[in-house]
Amino acid sequence: MGRLEGKDALVTGSGSGIGKSIALLFAREGARVAVADRDRAAAEQTLVEIQQQGGGGLALVADISKADSVEQLLLEVERQFKTLHILVNNAGISRRRAFEELGEEDWDAVLATNLKGAVLCTRKALALLKKQSGSKIINIASVEAFRHARKMTAYAASKGALASLSRSLALELAPYDIHVNYICPGLIRTEMTRPYLARWMFRKYMRHWTPLRRVGEPEDVASVALFLASSDSDFVTGEGITVDGGLSLRLF
Ligand code: NAP
Repeated sequence: MGRLEGKDALVTGSGSGIGKSIALLFAREGARVAVADRDRAAAEQTLVEIQQQGGGGLALVADISKADSVEQLLLEVERQFKTLHILVNNAGISRRRAFEELGEEDWDAVLATNLKGAVLCTRKALALLKKQSGSKIINIASVEAFRHARKMTAYAASKGALASLSRSLALELAPYDIHVNYICPGLIRTEMTRPYLARWMFRKYMRHWTPLRRVGEPEDVASVALFLASSDSDFVTGEGITVDGGLSLRLF
């Protein structure tokens, strides 16, 4: 407890799933958390749960794929928090469709959210993150950055780019002592994966093939995000941590 005492964090897409779990854990560890989501009710519900745990923060509505919305988001964080130590670029979407059926709108939506969204938030957050040394940027990528399922080209391209962006940015921001790392979750039980996990055969297959023999939970990702957000990772930058129960290790 208390590993993020005195820190201010912004977690995008924290109205549900992995982002919500990260927001709740960071708050339990003492951080004030700005919960940002495009769904107001979801963001407010996360904040209520943070307050029920005895924590504090803000619930903010933002569409991180839009520059003006991100600008308003960061202005509000600055107005209310004054400081920002941790940015988690978590909001993301996926479109499972054959390459030939993925239209321009699909590509635009996926890249605008998963890649450009992280760029916009990072650009606007930088002035606040630079105010002190030891700030942390954590990007939620995916094992799809380096291992692939069929019909996921747009998503895989966005996550591969996000991983590259994280490493490249880590180099560029190192002189400011801003650490940039990324997490590559495998299959995690959230709204995003509910349609797959609803199928009994798929669950059985995943449990069978995952070396650690279970599906991941949002908390499995949140605990790694906590490590990357805390001073425990102060000499770590440009690094990706895979959280998939060992699945991507398998050859057969
Ligand atoms: P989720 O439960 O669908 O949560 C994503 C949240 O982000 C939702 O609240 C969503 O709002 C919000 N969001 C989407 N687009 C947004 C935008 N433009 N602006 C603001 N908020 C937006 O999904 P999740 O599984 O927790 O995913 C979180 C991150 O983990 C994503 O980047 C995802 O790619 C990554 N990831 C997930 C898995 C997995 O197995 N679950 C694996 C690897 C990586 P709406 O509900 O309105 O869409």
